[in-house]
Amino acid sequence: MLPLVRAEDVVLEINLGAIQANFRTVSTLVGPRVRVAAVIKSDAYGLGIVDIARALIDAGCDLLLVANLDEGLLLRSSFIGVEIAVFHDQLDKFGRWYRAHRLIPVVNNCRELDAISTEGNRQMYFLNVETGFSRFGLGIDDVRSQCVLRTFERHRPSVVLSHLACSECAWDGTNILQRDRFRAICDLLRPTRGSLAASAGVWLGKPYHFDMVRVGSALYGINTAGAQPNPLQPVTKLRARILDVCNVPPGEAVGYGATFRTARASRVAVAGIGYKHGLPWSCANKLSVRFAGYSAPVIGRISMEYITIDITDLPKALCGPGAFVELLDEDFTVGDLAAAAGVSPQEVLTRLGAGCTRQYLNSSSPFRASLAHRGEADGIGAPR
Ligand SMILES: *Cc1c(COP(=O)(O)O)cnc(C)c1O
Repeated sequence: MLPLVRAEDVVLEINLGAIQANFRTVSTLVGPRVRVAAVIKSDAYGLGIVDIARALIDAGCDLLLVANLDEGLLLRSSFIGVEIAVFHDQLDKFGRWYRAHRLIPVVNNCRELDAISTEGNRQMYFLNVETGFSRFGLGIDDVRSQCVLRTFERHRPSVVLSHLACSECAWDGTNILQRDRFRAICDLLRPTRGSLAASAGVWLGKPYHFDMVRVGSALYGINTAGAQPNPLQPVTKLRARILDVCNVPPGEAVGYGATFRTARASRVAVAGIGYKHGLPWSCANKLSVRFAGYSAPVIGRISMEYITIDITDLPKALCGPGAFVELLDEDFTVGDLAAAAGVSPQEVLTRLGAGCTRQYLNSSSPFRASLAHRGEADGIGAPR
């Protein structure tokens, strides 16, 4: 029979204290007059929506943004007081649900605006406007015609928002174009508050902050703006257990497609992490892992459940079955892994979060803290 408490093979460690520190860093950057809304859609970028929400609320966040009603309802069942806004979910059909659970809808088109502006409805809502992203939002002509129809006078949005396409490149002219279009719309809707910037937009400076910024990536330690020196703390560590070690003669193929061939008699460790857990297939032969300060290259393809690592140069005692290899740490972050794999860091994070066992560090909840502690105690070489 399997032991009741079985140590995990793949652990994504999530430092809640680092997420809180990143929230404070962004708050300091934008200053006290700009509200910082936390984007925790997609299960908080894979890190666990309820745990991350709790940490952010503890850090002083009072507005959470989610993708859909399911996420909104889940959050509302855990948190009574905080404001929650839903980016997009059939407002014209489910208006009742928004009202009953005090979820703030984002209005994305005229159909939804009609639905929410029915006689007597005083429900708070945000208005999304289109300035150059072509993904939801009323265009400036729609806004003008609704102004003529006096819809906004009757029922004013509390925030008008738009999304930047190129904020990761500070020098891209699209930023200025979108900001000017956004300003023109804000002028029409005064005194409604404005929100244009997501994480990278924070680094574009004051003219992009308006009244509120909406940050996701920055909270999770992803430096989308490439800010140097990087003021954001890394949030995640990733480790996987070595399942087996084998001796491979020179000239042998390692893994699918024989993309790697040993040049010498080698020791190869097999670790229990693969693309099923969210490790990008495209990082094959481009990645190293760490063992207690040593580094060793991942060789051959990433398979569904496993990777293979050349440990020939490492001390034998360090990397036997049961030991853990580190794939992400302070020095090699999600951003570095994404760059090696040629994919976006947000994609890597959401997939790893969904595929690995998550453990939380620096949690205020004693239950979580003890779980995290158990993970630590398991450490290197723990028996299964
Ligand atoms: C996802 C999202 C954000 C957050 O973007 P980050 O770059 O991760 O900070 C902000 N606004 C909207 C509309 C989004 O969809």
